[in-house]
Amino acid sequence: MLRTGYVCRTMNTKTHDVSSFILSLSERLRSLFQNREVSPHAAQHGLDRAFTNQVLESQPLSVFIPERFGGRGQHVSECLSMLEACSYESLPLSLVMGINGALFLQPLSKYGSEAVQADVFPKFLHENALGGLMITEPGFGSDALQMQTSAERTGDGYRIRGTKHWGGLTGHADYWLLTARGMTPRGDLERNISFFAWDRSLGGIQVEEYYENLGLHMIPYGLNRIDAVVPESRKLEPKTTGVRMLLDLLHRSRLQFPGMAMGYLRRLLDEAVTHCKERMVGGKPLFAYDQVQQRLARMQAAFTACSGMCAFSSSAASVDNDCSGSALPANAIKTVVTDMMQSTAQSLLQLVGAKGYRMDHIAGSAVIDSRPFQIFEGSNDILYQQISEFILKGMGRVRESNLYRYLADFPNTSRVADYLKNSLSFSLTPDLSQRRTVELGKALGRIVSMDMVMKLGDQGFRKDLIDNCLSVMKTDVDAILHRFSSMADANVVEDYIDGAVWQDALPG
Ligand SMILES: Cc1cc2nc3c(=O)[nH]c(=O)nc-3n(C[C@H](O)[C@H](O)[C@H](O)COP(=O)(O)OP(=O)(O)OC[C@H]3O[C@@H](n4cnc5c(N)ncnc54)[C@H](O)[C@@H]3O)c2cc1C
Repeated sequence: MLRTGYVCRTMNTKTHDVSSFILSLSERLRSLFQNREVSPHAAQHGLDRAFTNQVLESQPLSVFIPERFGGRGQHVSECLSMLEACSYESLPLSLVMGINGALFLQPLSKYGSEAVQADVFPKFLHENALGGLMITEPGFGSDALQMQTSAERTGDGYRIRGTKHWGGLTGHADYWLLTARGMTPRGDLERNISFFAWDRSLGGIQVEEYYENLGLHMIPYGLNRIDAVVPESRKLEPKTTGVRMLLDLLHRSRLQFPGMAMGYLRRLLDEAVTHCKERMVGGKPLFAYDQVQQRLARMQAAFTACSGMCAFSSSAASVDNDCSGSALPANAIKTVVTDMMQSTAQSLLQLVGAKGYRMDHIAGSAVIDSRPFQIFEGSNDILYQQISEFILKGMGRVRESNLYRYLADFPNTSRVADYLKNSLSFSLTPDLSQRRTVELGKALGRIVSMDMVMKLGDQGFRKDLIDNCLSVMKTDVDAILHRFSSMADANVVEDYIDGAVWQDALPG
């Protein structure tokens, strides 16, 4: 029996080496956070480099580095376990690790030249280097492919010019993956996206402003002006096109969100159960109230669903796989698990009551720290739409209009389809309004996630947890599908003040 986070787990001998690595990381993190002067949940803007260096001494990032460069070999289950151990102690810390791993080290290991990898990876292993990714620009966020940052060929390599913002670790990362569009001979921007591995010694990135981010205070964000020359060797080489490389990177990253969510959801559940057993209201513990049990059961369902996603991603997100075609599971996992992170945080705050409504309480900080996960790396509203469009397109291709019949034959949903047969046995037309497409996507995302939960059950995960999770998620799917079928088509009334002053409507 080994402890990771605050939980006891049984591991077989095959996983012993991994578990002792994770165990010692967990213990070190717990001790570092306990002895830290500032509460890990208190508002503290900017990266505490000395503290981060102490964390990096345990080499958590080694899980993202190939064995031939001294890393632990990029086993996704290890990456997820490391992220889980971090997020049990601190969600922002886990995001720092996720940014470094999924948005810098993994792409570099897949698309960077051997010489650049040999130069860069030891810096992460032995010199506490940190990296990040800059895609977003002030004018182009969701529509990132329209980015205006240019990469112009020069004698020395590429001159990269543009403005990027919201790159996690702004001003503090030693390495950045910079995204830019090449230039045609006429000076126009190409459609294709290129990636360049920049490091501090190259200069040319000015932080023009640091943002007062609402949460995730450990991570600095801001606005960067870029005018840097990057050597040719630092350009990542796509297997096919730059856009496919971008999709491969983003889908692999989304598939690994459950690692960051896993420890966090477990921690919030543990906090909620402990609080509800201790807090007496009306002469009995909160734990004894039916409504409280409903909230706790939903929080536990999120824990189980996330476990299913981790098991799925352990093979699906391998660096050896081309994830550019994994839009459906990647988008389903990212949207559903981030919605669960936010609703679990809201539930914890509700259960803790006023005591939790403080920046230095985990319930309060959890609400603001988890919120941007629904926005970055693909806004959930947009990803839900894409999930629906993917399924509707597939149905169109095989001329099937009955949702149950299609999903019963579809690899990501065939295991769960019978469990939901009554709910899914209806016909769909492809010409849905955007709001209905998004609503349908919410249901489909949960159905894909339930399929992962069922498969987790097949692999021996605790049956009572699986049964509870499926029952909670089925209720959600039914409610969403009901909303989908009866959605109002109201639009916002512009210039609405005329005739809309309630006092004027009073009699007399
Ligand atoms: C905490 C945090 C960390 C981040 N980290 C990074 C990072 O490390 N690197 C990086 O490059 N970027 C990062 N970002 C930026 C992030 O990826 C962008 O915020 C995101 O892509 C959305 O872009 P935007 O904010 O410009 O919003 P917009 O593109 O303006 O979209 C705002 C909202 O409009 C709606 N919307 C947009 N398009 C549509 C549509 N077609 N249909 C319906 N609704 C739509 C959605 O509700 C969407 O959420 C981070 C952001 C945050 C908040």
